[in-house]
Amino acid sequence: SACPTPHIATGDLVRDELASTGPDAVQLKEIVNQGKLVSDEIIINLLSKRLKKGEEKGESGFILDGFPRTVNQAEILDGVTDIDMVVNLKLREDIIVQKCLGRRICGQCGKNFNLACIDVKAENGLPPIYMSPLLPPNNCMSKLLTRDDDTEEVVRNRLRIYNEMSQPVEDFYQKQGKVLEFDLPGGIPESWPKLLDVLNLEDQQEMKLAAA
Ligand code: AMP
Repeated sequence: SACPTPHIATGDLVRDELASTGPDAVQLKEIVNQGKLVSDEIIINLLSKRLKKGEEKGESGFILDGFPRTVNQAEILDGVTDIDMVVNLKLREDIIVQKCLGRRICGQCGKNFNLACIDVKAENGLPPIYMSPLLPPNNCMSKLLTRDDDTEEVVRNRLRIYNEMSQPVEDFYQKQGKVLEFDLPGGIPESWPKLLDVLNLEDQQEMKLAAA
């Protein structure tokens, strides 16, 4: 029986862990709330547990989100599985900051929303960017939570650490020819169908290559 391909975000695994009563929870929370990276050892441990659980359920593939974030993590991943494709979702840093600050989660139903209204005019040859907010229904409105690490200071720290530690992961996969660069054209409603289109195109190209 076909098992849907799971979306596995290591950030979610980390948040589950720091909400637990485990021995590492307090220390983890401190690292995450400063916008620092959790050690490769802890991340690999959390991810392996999740992948093993999936295998037992019959999952035969996965979409990883937020992993690998260091070249070491990428090397470890390469040692245990074959990665088909890497999608690099790109957005200007000033907009990433606004989007993170607008992010809300409903404490009851768990759905994600975004209150930020991004409306950047075209300038210096850069295209305009418009992203409407993803507003919650009335039911969720009074239950909205903000991630502790979505303050401007911590978001900027996360971006700084991204540029230092995670940017080299792009080169790692570029050398393997696996990277699909995707400039986000707008909010999720505009981006999603376009992303599916290019992923399908990539698929067809791979099939052509395989047939050749
Ligand atoms: P995210 O939800 O992807 O923003 O992740 C939240 C936080 O979890 C990050 O700021 C890190 O502290 C930690 N984290 C998530 N994924 C990783 C990873 N692959 N390597 C190291 N730390 C991670």
